[in-house]
Amino acid sequence: MPRPKKERLVRRPPLYTEFKPAGVMRNSLKQVVLELDELEAIRLADYLGMDHSEAAEEMEISRSTFTRLVEKARKKIAVFLVEGLNLSIEGGNIHFRGNVIQCLDCGHMFNTGFDVNITKCPACGSERLVDLAGGFGHGACCRGHNHRGRR
Ligand SMILES: [Zn+2]
Ligand SMILES: [Zn+2]
Repeated sequence: MPRPKKERLVRRPPLYTEFKPAGVMRNSLKQVVLELDELEAIRLADYLGMDHSEAAEEMEISRSTFTRLVEKARKKIAVFLVEGLNLSIEGGNIHFRGNVIQCLDCGHMFNTGFDVNITKCPACGSERLVDLAGGFGHGACCRGHNHRGRR
C-alpha cells in the first residue's frame, strides 16, 4: 500500500528565485511569494504546454487541484508584472524529484539525485558546489520521490 501523498512533486529546484523591476530598490517594493508548487504548475502548463491532467499526474495531485494551483500562480505573476513587485520563489508543500548542483568555479550545472553524494564538479573538478535543493531546505526528505511517476 502506498502511503498517502500530500506533498506536491516538483521535477527539480528552479535556478532563479528573485525577480524585481529593474532599477528599483528591493526594499521599496511590495513583496509577493510564488511557492515552488505554483512555479512548477506554470512550468508544466505554460512553459511546457502540458494539459492539466498530464501536469497533475506529474505533480501527483488531482486535476482540479492542479487547475486551482495554476490559476493562483498566474494571478500572482499578473500582479507582479502589472504592479511591479518584488517576487521571490520559495516554500510550498513539496518535495523535489531530482536535484541540481551548480559549480561556483566554472558555472557548470548538472542534474543529480538525492541518493548520490557528489563532491566534485564533473566538468572542472572543483569542490565549490552549490546544492540548489539544499537552498530550499530540501535534500534527504526528497529521497524516494525521484523514481516515481511514469517518466
Ligand atoms: Zn566546475
Ligand atoms: Zn524534500
